[in-house]
Order: sequence, then structure tokens, then C-alpha cells
Amino acid sequence: MNLILFGPPGAGKGTQSQLLVERQKMKQISTGDLFRAAIKNSTSLGKEAKGYLDAGKLVPDSVTIGLVEEELGALKGTKFILDGFPRNVAQADALANILKKTGKTIDKVFFVEVPINLLLGRLAGRRVCRTCATVYHIESKPPTKENVCDACGGEVYQRADDKEEVIRTRLEAYETSTRPLKEYYKAKGPQTYVEIDGTGTSEQVFERLTRVMQGKS
Ligand code: AMP
Repeated sequence: MNLILFGPPGAGKGTQSQLLVERQKMKQISTGDLFRAAIKNSTSLGKEAKGYLDAGKLVPDSVTIGLVEEELGALKGTKFILDGFPRNVAQADALANILKKTGKTIDKVFFVEVPINLLLGRLAGRRVCRTCATVYHIESKPPTKENVCDACGGEVYQRADDKEEVIRTRLEAYETSTRPLKEYYKAKGPQTYVEIDGTGTSEQVFERLTRVMQGKS
């Protein structure tokens, strides 16, 4: 099953994707993680994307779409999760073309819903591994050893765009550009588009997601 996970920043898309990778051997394609890795490695993509990430703004479609096309093109049969892409209607249209060209399909589009007051606390307390992108939270899921990733021993840090000033811009970008995708994908029908309650623990959300994937609700 191939999935799109979308929703506001802090909804838990990355965490759910990581659980699906671990437990269902799916491949996560996270445009945010790809941009951060490119920035860390100072590639030309990283140089192009950095200013946008730092400001909490969307990277131009021409750059983002090309990146996803490459990633999807390289996949041979592995089931995948698109995490953080598409983020606007132009990207969704481009994705439809890429899928057609590569003969791939999307089986479910999950919109992960979390009220705004919870999002702010989740984002401000979020910490991420610089090496493997495992997601932590200072209260609900701290690493065992402070600032050290349990999974790989890498440095756990606070993303620059998880600081309050930038969070506001990211939420605006979400409202303006990404939220309209709800209607776009709702039009694909209830077999494809499913809204998931993203509140509660990551295990509870995972249970809701996998029940739908198994056709149980
Ligand atoms: P995320 O890790 O999904 O929260 O994304 C972090 C940042 O990466 C966003 O604030 C954007 O600057 C950039 N980004 C990630 N995905 C996209 C996308 N699909 N389109 C444009 N920019 C993106």
C-alpha cells in the first residue's frame, strides 16, 4: 500500500512514517528530511533550500517536484509513504503526472488532524536526531541520554524552524497552501481520503492508521 500523509506541521507525520518504516518495511519519502540532509551536506540542493527552511517558507515547486520525481523513480516495488509532499495543489497535480509516468498509484491519503493549541506545544518541544531524523519530544518522548539519539547515537537537536517565530510562518504556509489539499483529495472519495485523529500517543495514532490500512474501519 502506498500512502500520502499530510496535515499541519507537528501533526506527527514524521513519527507515524518512522513507525511504518520500522514495522511495515515501507520507504519514507520526506521532503523535509531530504532538504535537511542536503543542507547538512552543503549540496547545491541544500544551498538552494536553506533560506526557505530557515524562514519556514515552502521551497519552490520546481525544486521540490524534481526531488520527489527522482526519489520515486528510484523506487523499485517498495511500498512508500509520502511525508510532507505534496504541500500545495500544484505539487499534487505534478504528483499525479509522476505517478502516471512511473506506473505507480496511491492507495490512501491520510489527513492527520490535530488542534492548533496542541500543535504549538508539540513543535516547540520537538527534538530531532541530526543523523537519522528520529523524532523526540522533551516531555512525551525524551531520548534516554540527553541530546543523544537512542537509535543511532547521533546528536539530538532542536530544528531552527521549530522556534516560535518560524512556527508561526509555517502554520501560515500550511493554512494558505496545504489545507486546500483536503478538498482536492476528498474529491477522490472515502476509499482513498481518510481523516485520522492525530491526538493522543503515537501508538494510539498508529493503531488508528493501521486499522484503516487493514480495512477495519
Ligand atoms: P517538514 O520537515 O515537513 O516540516 O518540512 C520542513 C521545511 O521543508 C518546510 O517548512 C519547507 O521549508 C520545506 N519543505 C518540506 N516539504 C516541502 C514541500 N513539499 N514543498 C515545499 N517545501 C517543503
